[in-house]
Amino acid sequence: MAPVALEGSGEAEFPVLGIDSGAIERNAARIVDRVDPDVVGVTKGVCGDPRVARAMLAGGAAGIADSRVANVVGLREALQCDLLLLRAPMGTECSAVVENATWSMESEAATLRALSAISTDREVVHRVLVAIDVGDRREGVLPEEFDELLEAAIDLPGVEVSGLATHVGSFGGVVPTRENVGRLVELVERAEERLGRRLAVVSGGSTNALGLAFEGDLPGQVTQLRVGEGILLGTDPVTGEAIPGLETDAIELVAEVIECKRKPSLPEGERSRDAFGQEPAFADRGVRRRAILALGRLDCAIGELTPLREGVEVIGASSDHTVVDVADAGSVEVGDTLAFRPGYAALARAAAAPSVAVAVG
Ligand SMILES: *Cc1c(COP(=O)(O)O)cnc(C)c1O
Repeated sequence: MAPVALEGSGEAEFPVLGIDSGAIERNAARIVDRVDPDVVGVTKGVCGDPRVARAMLAGGAAGIADSRVANVVGLREALQCDLLLLRAPMGTECSAVVENATWSMESEAATLRALSAISTDREVVHRVLVAIDVGDRREGVLPEEFDELLEAAIDLPGVEVSGLATHVGSFGGVVPTRENVGRLVELVERAEERLGRRLAVVSGGSTNALGLAFEGDLPGQVTQLRVGEGILLGTDPVTGEAIPGLETDAIELVAEVIECKRKPSLPEGERSRDAFGQEPAFADRGVRRRAILALGRLDCAIGELTPLREGVEVIGASSDHTVVDVADAGSVEVGDTLAFRPGYAALARAAAAPSVAVAVG
């Protein structure tokens, strides 16, 4: 990736996430080209950054989705596009949802009632996608409880059921299949019959459903996929592998070396648990040159960082320090920076951390 110009005065600020918006746009375009349903770009991995959202839209994304209401509000300030709220709102957030989201995914009658009260008061209609749990056991109504929620929604003024949505993988690790997506389709047919109209949105899954979509194995009724990781990192959460044809180097995390010394690779003294309640294990490799980065577990999921420079190895981390072995990495001095490829959790946490700058080039 070309080095990304840093924001601000030209003074480098670390740690920093460098995001190549051209690569994001190209990844979005390649996915949009290869699947029939609309692709909604998911920005929760970059904390709802509107610059990244713009790149997704430039690549052909039909809209943007995020899990946090605060991110949806920020995106709405910057963008005119359709915005989908992925995580059901808390009671105090319903007002902002009605105001800023085109749709929200919902699974509780109580929340639908709160949304209804607000939208009727404002004389607007709030559109919802009913979330269906087809097996992952995170959010959504079970298929057998769908009719009850649908009836509740139909009775509420100011709330319109625009569609259904399903999500697997994030919690239970369930993989999308023709069968579990098919369960969604059965409910779509039931809902359309009851409502006497077609549903505008059948949201059939996330990056992990792209494999099915590329093979043409998604039911034709699916109108939308919500894709975050595939666009941002070019990887498939099911396999952890790169998705063929996508760029995997759009994003890097760069941190600064604040100490670099030769030290024994084994701790010395009586040992118990570390700051995070773990009992870390270390290999005895003798005395090694090790660098400490101004980066820690408060900033990032350190275990998900892949060093970009050959010979660098992440040894471990505490809240504010990351220790890397640089004995085989050539010259590394205090004040130098080291770059890493983040996995999805590392990216999402870094993007949300106030201590990490984000530079979009
Ligand atoms: C996070 C999330 C997505 C996007 O998942 P990716 O694996 O990043 O594509 C889609 N839908 C819901 C409900 C989510 O929570």
